[in-house]
Amino acid sequence: MSERPGRLVLLGHPVAHSLSPRFQNAALQRAGIPLTYEALDVLAPDLPGAVRLLAEDRAAGNVTIPHKEAMAELCDVRTTLAERTGAVNTFWVDEARKLVGDNTDVDGVALLLTELLGAPASGPVALLGAGGAAAAVLAALERWPGCTVTLYNRSHTRSARLAERFPIVTRCVESAEEAARDATLVINATAAGLEDDELPLPIESLPFGAAIADLVYRRGETAWVRAARACGHRAVDGLPMLIEQGALAFERWFGVPAPRDAMWDAVLVPDAR
Ligand code: NAP
Repeated sequence: MSERPGRLVLLGHPVAHSLSPRFQNAALQRAGIPLTYEALDVLAPDLPGAVRLLAEDRAAGNVTIPHKEAMAELCDVRTTLAERTGAVNTFWVDEARKLVGDNTDVDGVALLLTELLGAPASGPVALLGAGGAAAAVLAALERWPGCTVTLYNRSHTRSARLAERFPIVTRCVESAEEAARDATLVINATAAGLEDDELPLPIESLPFGAAIADLVYRRGETAWVRAARACGHRAVDGLPMLIEQGALAFERWFGVPAPRDAMWDAVLVPDAR
């Protein structure tokens, strides 16, 4: 991107829970970039109008729940990963004044899983959810040999649609319990646990020794991660993914390495989550 963005924003609903403003503003300060990253709570019907005005201001930013798929439709240009996932979490306006959509969640989740497992994932994976985050998980897993995915989502039409686009999904099933059976890795890409302690899957339904990755993050980790770890499972919440997707977005916007240490410091202060 040749010109610095005119504004930096996060588009979502809700956005109040998001740690992105906290760590992106710390990164901007560390890098000496005179911009403020603002969270904008935008309802679905207002998204096209908001995006049009932001593009006129040469804004760049991130997109979160529930707008990633709608944002992919609104972009003039999509990167390969945005095309593959059908979801955009990072955008900017290029020198031809085109709105460009990218997806840094894919590499964010790849980092999360590699850190959790100590190696790329392989073997049977259970994936819960069928939104933009689930598509990012599938785009990451399909790059690694030896993964097969059993998919469960509340809305079956949505999981069937996603499975059609990703041959790595071998089965769509009727319950989270059925998806987890025999899995060595269980991934929550639903919003369960985002606003309360709802578990995406009861802990007793986790196969012995299965690792779990919860893409949701909460203050003091999610209830699911805490409970799984208490029962001896390797478990991680979505915070490392959040920082990595944000760091990669920062690098897209500014073309300089993101100060990841400043980002981590900002979210690890005691009142951050
Ligand atoms: P999305 O496109 O709106 O999809 C939401 C998904 O969650 C759908 O599969 C939906 O099922 C399901 N869902 C919502 N509430 C549920 C509940 N109470 N019980 C079971 N399923 C529920 O959102 P997204 O972008 O995929 O995000 C999904 C989650 O991943 C969010 O919690 C988000 O915060 C998290 N995430 C984290 C990171 C990170 O960096 N850590 C990055 C991306 C996303 P239906 O289709 O049936 O409605």
